[in-house]
Amino acid sequence: MIATTDSRQAPQSFESADAYFDAFGLNQAARDFINRPLRLLIDGRWTDASDGGTAPIVEPSTAQQIGTIAMATTEDLELAVDAARRAFDGGEWSRITPLERESLLRRLADLIEDNAEEFIALETLDVGKPLAEAELDIQGTIDTYRYFAGWASKVSGRSGQASSLPGNYVTYTRKEPVGVIGVIVPWNFPLQTLAWKLGAALAVGCTTVIKPPEITSLTTLRFAELVAEAGIPDGVVNVLTGKGSKVGAALAAHPRIDKVTFTGSTATGTSVGHAALDNMTRMTLELGGKSAVLVFDDCDIEKTVEEVALGIFSNAGQICDAGSRLYVQDSIYDEFMAKLVEHTRTWAMGPGLDPESAIGPVVSESQLKTVTGFIAKGVEEGATLLCGGNTAEGPGFYVEPTIFGDCTNDMTIVRDEIFGPVLVAGRFSSQDQALELANDSEYGLAATIYSNNLNVVHELSQGLKVGSVYVNAQSSIDPAMPFGGYKKSGFGRDLGTEQLDFVTETKTVWITLP
Ligand code: NAD
Repeated sequence: MIATTDSRQAPQSFESADAYFDAFGLNQAARDFINRPLRLLIDGRWTDASDGGTAPIVEPSTAQQIGTIAMATTEDLELAVDAARRAFDGGEWSRITPLERESLLRRLADLIEDNAEEFIALETLDVGKPLAEAELDIQGTIDTYRYFAGWASKVSGRSGQASSLPGNYVTYTRKEPVGVIGVIVPWNFPLQTLAWKLGAALAVGCTTVIKPPEITSLTTLRFAELVAEAGIPDGVVNVLTGKGSKVGAALAAHPRIDKVTFTGSTATGTSVGHAALDNMTRMTLELGGKSAVLVFDDCDIEKTVEEVALGIFSNAGQICDAGSRLYVQDSIYDEFMAKLVEHTRTWAMGPGLDPESAIGPVVSESQLKTVTGFIAKGVEEGATLLCGGNTAEGPGFYVEPTIFGDCTNDMTIVRDEIFGPVLVAGRFSSQDQALELANDSEYGLAATIYSNNLNVVHELSQGLKVGSVYVNAQSSIDPAMPFGGYKKSGFGRDLGTEQLDFVTETKTVWITLP
């Protein structure tokens, strides 16, 4: 690969997946789970794919196969949609009292918490992320179900009054569950992203057909076991592991679902959106990002250096709102970048199960190729490789935390989402220029400002064309606050009270009095 001056220690490699599990004492429940046949969940029954198809599960730190999952067919999809339809149209889920739904969702959250160690281990095995990061994901998942459980009994319409129509009316609105929701989720935060979709949907009484990411389905399958254990009726949650281009595409185009909620790349989201629109299926699209980070010269440099590194290297940069485009004010650019590079070299790269690892591998061989392709492109386009750039020798899909300096907005590595541990950095001289550079992107998911100047912070927060603005920290996420994108980062919102509008239809009732 590309030579840099880094002398980073190579991550430990293992002869086999079992040797890796033994070295770090993998949670026994997780070990037992991956050794079980992992099937589809349709109408409360675990079943093989109709054609018996399976696919290997490849662990990213060792590049070894650790199990197999079933690969659903479009016939399986028909059965799952039938089940979800029955559970919605004639089933009890939307008819039980909201407080009963709330208590079932709380029980589900409690069960995830009871099995948290197993979930953390499974998410680490599947995605390659360090255990400490998986722990945050599982806690975020539990919090999301608890937050939306509380909304089950709070969602309601409003009474209104005609403003210009002569006559005497009683008018009110009803909030009704949208129906059967097709849920399609990406591989970077599989269980937590699922919670972002399911929490609100289940709270208001919708039923679901879930298409987890084909390369990271483990935690979704374990979660689905707990759905039954919590007492949620059969058919409310159906899970079809399988290929996105086949079962995912067929789900988005299915005429008998009422809504599709998708998180993933802008390219796939666009085709999902077209397919859904053909049936006038409602949709939420949470898509890609290339989020700008604006560092002003009045910031706390030491703290900002650490935050900026966290914002791009957490989860090996595979975060939709990763702060992947850095712009530093001219007056501190050299000092800031030198400190950032020095700090980045302290990030220990290693396998997910090793508690010493700060950054794990990327998720797959294909993602490794994509990321290293972008690194080569950056060098070719004349950006300065300040650190990183290498892959590790031996098995495992490792890419060093990488920083490019002297980047300009016309470069591919600045325009495209890399979705790996690669930060591209450039300079700005004024607040106006910072805003112009930040908004010069087809994406609009998030942006971060590091400054203690109130005017700068407020003016930029108004001017940035993004769904989330973070100030003096990055990627702050909470179930109570909405998340979503402007521009090609999608539309609709997950989380917060705003999401409730995307899982319900609003019906207006007019009663004309004599
Ligand atoms: P992806 O678009 O390749 O896949 C996402 C999901 O769609 C997977 O389950 C996949 O199997 C399925 N899929 C693939 N082809 C399909 C098709 N033709 N029709 C229907 N479904 C199909 O994305 P990915 O590589 O899994 O995830 C990375 C992307 O997700 C990045 O672009 C990232 O920014 C984005 N993302 C966005 C958010 C957000 O909230 N905005 C959050 C996380 C990830």
